[in-house]
Amino acid sequence: MSYVDEVLAMVVAKNPAQPEFHQAVKEVLESLRVVIEENEEEYRRDALLERLVTPERIVMFRVPWVDDKGQVQVNNGFRVQFNSAIGPYKGGLRFHPSVNLGIIKFLGFEQVFKNSLTGLPIGGGKGGSDFDPKGKSDREVMAFCQSFMTELCKHIGADTDVPAGDIGVGGREIGYLFGQYKRIRNLYEGVLTGKGLTYGGSLARTEATGYGLLYLTKEMLKCNGKDIKDKIIAVSGAGNVATYAIQKAQQLGAKPVTCSDSTGWIFDPEGIDVDLLKEVKEVKRARLTEYAAKRPSAQYHEGRGVWSVKCDVALPCATQNELGLEDAKMLVKNGCFAVAEGANMPTTLEATEYLQQQGILFCPGKASNAGGVATSALEMSQNSERLSWTFEEVDNKLQGIMVNIFHSIDNASKKYGMEGNYVAGANIAGFQKVADAMKAQGIV
Ligand code: NDP
Repeated sequence: MSYVDEVLAMVVAKNPAQPEFHQAVKEVLESLRVVIEENEEEYRRDALLERLVTPERIVMFRVPWVDDKGQVQVNNGFRVQFNSAIGPYKGGLRFHPSVNLGIIKFLGFEQVFKNSLTGLPIGGGKGGSDFDPKGKSDREVMAFCQSFMTELCKHIGADTDVPAGDIGVGGREIGYLFGQYKRIRNLYEGVLTGKGLTYGGSLARTEATGYGLLYLTKEMLKCNGKDIKDKIIAVSGAGNVATYAIQKAQQLGAKPVTCSDSTGWIFDPEGIDVDLLKEVKEVKRARLTEYAAKRPSAQYHEGRGVWSVKCDVALPCATQNELGLEDAKMLVKNGCFAVAEGANMPTTLEATEYLQQQGILFCPGKASNAGGVATSALEMSQNSERLSWTFEEVDNKLQGIMVNIFHSIDNASKKYGMEGNYVAGANIAGFQKVADAMKAQGIV
């Protein structure tokens, strides 16, 4: 059995009931085969892949808090510190009822390669809780965040592990988490990113993942002889990533016509009204039915369906495994020629393979959504030098980083004879730096 197959079998056997983690490892190791085979004996002797798929540390803890009725609630808290070969652990916190250890491990594993691709000195980690902020009062969210941080603060620090936001964790949650960290540790340091602008946050961090997705998509299209201008774009999600992807797409002259949340989706042939979307989702924290009620050109549909719309480019920006094989077939049938992932692993393995076989340009999230974590690393730099850069400065750096990421994954795919396979290119380019650093640091 080849070394890659041995490790894939080991991951499934040792991590039962963690399908998302198996899926993420399979996608990465399959595309690393060519690189591993070049040096199989040495990698096997050093158990490099076993170390790569095993987190350096996992912290799991109880999060008790009191709701508005005086009832005590208990949630599970997680932080997976996956790999610190190239820098302190860095990766978001997700608050969503679906969160479990396998999901946090898949996200942490992906984060290792993504962070490497940014070219910045950040290792990979991820955390979160099965707490659902939806429908909770601000006081309840604060009580939860304070309890969560009371334990988490023992394991993180500006030079150790720097969490950020993810699904269900936005500016409000980061504020409460930062306040509690400072109170307990008596340290005013850049321990979290995505902070508010009055207390160490970076301009353009809020926009960074969505904007970065479009900068990379524009470059990918350009290098394949196409222009993003005037293209019809289908976007899923209506949160941080989706909102700013829609905004930047419009600024680049494209027309995003859809968005979605966990209950339904919008088709707006006139193009999504970003200000209205922000008012409904960011300010009122309401459902998309409110968007449709205020916008005559919009149609609201219950359930899923964003990928059934005719579009040139698809940008899945909601959650994992939201674009399956049937969706991919519909996209191809309707003339879609490019898919770039804003969310983490939104496309299933079968759908990814199908899209690639059909010659669709496909960019995996670990490259196309890396603008968020890259800008988080820029926030860390600003915190360390106790300075704040302008929006333009940060946005220019972000554009440069996304263009570089595209070229490094494109070059890696060409170097290994898989031109245009950006999944393989991203995994190979991300892997090489981490593997070299792990080798140099000995058996740790
Ligand atoms: P938000 O919480 O701001 O928004 C998530 C959106 O996706 C919401 O519209 C939500 O609907 C929808 N959604 C969430 N879970 C589901 C589900 N199970 N089924 C259907 N819809 C769902 O999160 P973000 O925008 O920050 O994150 C979106 C994706 O991007 C995630 O995969 C995240 O890991 C990834 N990502 C985020 C980065 C960031 O900087 N924020 C950086 C890199 C990747 P509803 O409103 O109903 O909850």
